[in-house]
Amino acid sequence: QASTWADVPQGPPVSITEAFKADSFNEKINLGVGAYRDDQGKPHVLPSVRTAEDKVVQAKLNKEYAGITGVPEFTKAAALLAYGSDSSALDRVVITQSISGTGALRIGGAFLQRFYPGAKKIYIPTPSWANHAAVFKDSGLEVEKYRYYNKDTIGLDFEGMVADIKGAPKGSVFLLHACAHNPTGVDPTPEQWKVISEAVKAGGHFAFFDMAYQGFASGDTDKDAFALRYFVEQGHNPCLAQSFAKNMGLYGERVGAFSVVCTDAAEKKRVDSQIKILVRPLYSNPPVHGARIASEILNDPALNKQWLGEVKVMADRIITMRALLKKELENLGSKHDWSHITSQIGMFAYTGLTAEQMDTLAKEHSVYATKDGRISVAGITSGNVKRLAAAIHAVKP
Ligand code: PMP
Repeated sequence: QASTWADVPQGPPVSITEAFKADSFNEKINLGVGAYRDDQGKPHVLPSVRTAEDKVVQAKLNKEYAGITGVPEFTKAAALLAYGSDSSALDRVVITQSISGTGALRIGGAFLQRFYPGAKKIYIPTPSWANHAAVFKDSGLEVEKYRYYNKDTIGLDFEGMVADIKGAPKGSVFLLHACAHNPTGVDPTPEQWKVISEAVKAGGHFAFFDMAYQGFASGDTDKDAFALRYFVEQGHNPCLAQSFAKNMGLYGERVGAFSVVCTDAAEKKRVDSQIKILVRPLYSNPPVHGARIASEILNDPALNKQWLGEVKVMADRIITMRALLKKELENLGSKHDWSHITSQIGMFAYTGLTAEQMDTLAKEHSVYATKDGRISVAGITSGNVKRLAAAIHAVKP
């Protein structure tokens, strides 16, 4: 009897963790994971998260379903965190809890596919987080690219980006990384964001912000929300995917939100009804535990203050590791300019190493990261930075 799945082809591996696991060298370094590690290289649970979780458990809440759009105290606070407490948009925002940032992007993709009045197409940066294209394609959108990264300068291709925004057909959708661009760590400056906002407006385009790293980039949640808030101030009505995976370290709890800034209360009511119709057949309603933790942190003033301090500690450790890696490379006498390591922002550094050099790093030095030369700075510690610098210096003398 023929197997039902005989024609299912073997897919490529989705992560690099397998090769890392198979390596028995005890000083192997994993710079592939997109999760924060402490200076001992261990996963980190924020003390504010532990406290919030204890409070949630002690409250002995029931396990009833949340509504379709999730835990209201959480989503309300998430909107405040993103848009700012003084935002003119707050009473026009439709927001729903989501399965972390990925789920928010997916709801957004599905909403655009169903209701966006223009072409069912979304422009994402080159390069972008590897999952963006897949999420939007699976949502039924066509995916196009705009220029973003200039490999010669290891920086932003600002002219190319603005030219592509201006050149796109009127009313196009643009996915913008709000801060800490993944994978490059290269962000526009506030001045450049102003020009980008103008270009999006001039083209009659629509902005979709992905904010997966609010607070994680600079250590300041307001500063990291600059682009989103500036767009709103300038009269854009963007939509937004938020994740609490990185800034609260709630990776596996899958806490996020998708929101749409509407024109007025009537539009908000209609959009809200359609978001519910869209979410219901997808997963009915989201899980409550992680959202309750995030809600405690966002709504309890003392815990909130503590959390902001802890976010800054994580951001600062990453900034320190960037500086240390650059210094170690210079100490080794590297003749290359490594200033991009410290000018880039967020969890990742785009080293500029080639796929071949990355391959050698893995095979000869047991340093694992993605082929595009991206390394997770969160995986660097004061204990492994010297060995890492030596390995990089060896593959790119
Ligand atoms: N967007 C970007 C740019 C990301 O880097 C990530 C995490 N790697 C996400 C969204 C979503 O992550 P999560 O679903 O874990 O919130």
